[in-house]
Amino acid sequence: MAKAPVAKNQEFTVTIEDLSYEGMGVAKLDHYPLFVEGALPGETVVIRVVKAEKKYAFARLIQVVTPSPDRVTPKAQAYAQTGIAPLQHLAYPAQLKFKQHQIEMLYHKAQLAIPVRPTLGMTTPYGYRNKAQIPVRAIAGVVTTGFYKRRSHELIPLTDFYIQDPKIDAAVLVVRDLLRQYNVPAYDEATNSGVIRHIMVRRGYYSHQMMIVLVSRTWVVPHQAELVAGIKAALPEVTSIMLNLNERATNVILGPKTRTLDGNDYLEDQLLGSTFRISPLSFYQVNPTQTEVLYTAAVRAAGLTGREVVIDAYSGIGTISLTMAEHAKQVYGVEVVPEAVRDAKANARLNGVTNAEFLVGRAEDVMQTWKDQGLHADVLMVDPPRKGLAPEFIAAVGVMLPPKLVYVSCNPATLARDIAALQAFGYRATATQPVDMFPQTTSIESVTALTLG
Ligand code: SAH
Repeated sequence: MAKAPVAKNQEFTVTIEDLSYEGMGVAKLDHYPLFVEGALPGETVVIRVVKAEKKYAFARLIQVVTPSPDRVTPKAQAYAQTGIAPLQHLAYPAQLKFKQHQIEMLYHKAQLAIPVRPTLGMTTPYGYRNKAQIPVRAIAGVVTTGFYKRRSHELIPLTDFYIQDPKIDAAVLVVRDLLRQYNVPAYDEATNSGVIRHIMVRRGYYSHQMMIVLVSRTWVVPHQAELVAGIKAALPEVTSIMLNLNERATNVILGPKTRTLDGNDYLEDQLLGSTFRISPLSFYQVNPTQTEVLYTAAVRAAGLTGREVVIDAYSGIGTISLTMAEHAKQVYGVEVVPEAVRDAKANARLNGVTNAEFLVGRAEDVMQTWKDQGLHADVLMVDPPRKGLAPEFIAAVGVMLPPKLVYVSCNPATLARDIAALQAFGYRATATQPVDMFPQTTSIESVTALTLG
């Protein structure tokens, strides 16, 4: 058994050759890779080994000797310690190329000859997030909001999150100050005690409606009435204040139960001219302007003429389904979160759409049922979570054989895997279009159209 060729605390001067999918610089010592946070391809850097494994090591960036022309100054040192924006030191055009290149490399590894188009990016790649889930902790006895230090649960105090809608940053501070004023205890992770765990805020990009969700360990929140009154007085955009109960010692942010403290139990926003209501537990894309770019690309890829039966698997609150319904004969959506399906049905009514139906269930189970019932779909739209399509789902596609498949993916690794499996049934992809939904981060979203050929 060979051992690591480097040891902890050793220093080296190396040239960075590549950027890993997590955004770390990669250097090689005789084929042995060293991963360096904050280093960029082409740079000569001094590094110190932090952790050496048999096949690779992690090293800390000590000094940049020759900077990359794509290096930009990060927004703030405190911010750089968090994992919020791991690519913020990389110029935006280079971020877009990085995302295109990541998909290309994964296709190459999977022996897929699919061209990847240049990533569609934003003009202003900051302030885009319409949702925040901000941890609340006591630091030296004072209720503080911020974000976790990378790979830890140590809270770094932050007031400007740069990638969130600035109105959301401001709302978080309003709530924080009210918690301080009324001495409402912050949650303590070590002992699973205290009260307020997170402040979740959603703001409609077009509607300007705002929802505040207090995530609490207990249903009883001291000074609840004063908090509600204080939020309403300071933030006139707020149309909904909710309390979410999360009693367990867990990293999962939201618990399963939510109560309305004031206003609506949903938020409304518009996308591509349709109105959508969004419940606190429902998924909603976090970058509204780029979502419109993504959906437009997906609808175009579907090539609808008005005569098609469309399946929208992983349909969330029905945003893609209802966008496609205008151009199709019938749309069937399937989604596992019941609240999201309730939203999708309400959204169909809200927009006067009568040719879309939504089912609660696991896409892999419902696809099997539809296949057994002999349902024919002309277009199968999929937008799965990071783990991609389940084998049973792919097996059902192999029997149903919809002539066109549109794959919206938030994880190119599972996208490549799934396309390779779909090729066995005769599906061919002409191109993949990345759309940057998450500037300053390493997340990669894309649309791929596949046809039976
Ligand atoms: N297309 C929607 C939602 C995409 S996110 C939009 O653009 O807004 C993926 C969705 O898949 C989430 O709503 C999630 O709740 C749902 N989901 C996760 N696993 C699922 C499964 N096995 N079956 C059906 N839906 C699932």
